[in-house]
Amino acid sequence: MSPVIAPESLFSERQILELLGGGDDDWLFSRARLATQLAFGDQVFMRGIVEFSNHCRNDCHYCGLRSGNRELGRYRLSQAQILEAVDQAAAFGMGTLVLQSGDDNKYRCDDISQLIHQIKAKHKLAITLSLGDRSLEELAQWRQAGADRYLLKMETFDRRLFAESRPRANFDERLERLRGIQALGYQTGCGIITDLPGMTDEILARDIIQLTRLKLDMIACGPFVAHPQTPMSLSGNGSVLKSHRVSAILRLMNPGANIPATSSLEALEPGARALALLRGCNVVMPSFTPQNVFSQYDIYPGKNAAKAFLRERLEVIRNQIRQHGLEPSSARGDARSH
Ligand code: SAM
Ligand code: SF4
Repeated sequence: MSPVIAPESLFSERQILELLGGGDDDWLFSRARLATQLAFGDQVFMRGIVEFSNHCRNDCHYCGLRSGNRELGRYRLSQAQILEAVDQAAAFGMGTLVLQSGDDNKYRCDDISQLIHQIKAKHKLAITLSLGDRSLEELAQWRQAGADRYLLKMETFDRRLFAESRPRANFDERLERLRGIQALGYQTGCGIITDLPGMTDEILARDIIQLTRLKLDMIACGPFVAHPQTPMSLSGNGSVLKSHRVSAILRLMNPGANIPATSSLEALEPGARALALLRGCNVVMPSFTPQNVFSQYDIYPGKNAAKAFLRERLEVIRNQIRQHGLEPSSARGDARSH
């Protein structure tokens, strides 16, 4: 049986450039919506994210958690505090738990394994890890312990821009690690920051092609938001519309992938995250980081900036989703096969 619409196999670089330039937004967004609906219906998967440490040994030029930011009050959650936040995520109907932190090796391999075991023993949640660059041995042990997914964004596939923006990271090693993660059987996520200072549409088009070639389960693209305590503080914020175009193109090229509507969209323009759900995205990730450290996960201005408490924040997100005729879902929401 042939599908109702054939997923676009691959746009050429030239075609992507045209779409990025706004060549045909109505066509792009309506086709992306249809492709998302075909893969996931009207469901929007809710992932609870617990940002358990804002310590980072890296110094990425775009990120507020960079080690060079001496203004930031740092925190690390204990195992018990993390588990309490996880209980809340489960109680509030999240189907997936995302554990994220700066690149913080204070949490040893066994600490994370123990955490995974404890969560899996108590809850039916899928577990996504987003802990940055860790060794393949550690990644293998966590997979063994029951972790389902790993998210490691390249931020860009342009070597020069990568080196300029992530001075302590190694391009080849990160890409190799990503392939290792896939080989370990994780559902694997990668992504980019759109409008990262220095990024041209040509770089962006090639990034979209590289992401597609990796045959990923999750693809994250969100706009750059300038943080005052970084070397990129004076660069302009990214464009919401450009980021929407990117999510829509990625959807057409990767019909079964999970594509989150990022909080950086919301930081730039209230409502932009929900609108992304009509433009290729199908996932949202509300934060369950405890209220006393919530605002210290200060990746960029506007991240974890809401003054409201958890219940109220969740209600806002769920209402935004419903206003677009979509349905917040508690399913674990695995990617559809490639
Ligand atoms: N340390 C881990 C890593 O880098 O893979 C995970 C945590 S890191 C804070 C999560 C993501 O935040 C990064 O992959 C990056 O895409 C995003 N991010 C950081 N600074 C940003 C900024 N100024 N604007 C938009 N996204 C940003
Ligand atoms: Fe650290 Fe990740 Fe921020 Fe880079 S993006 S400084 S690795 S938290």
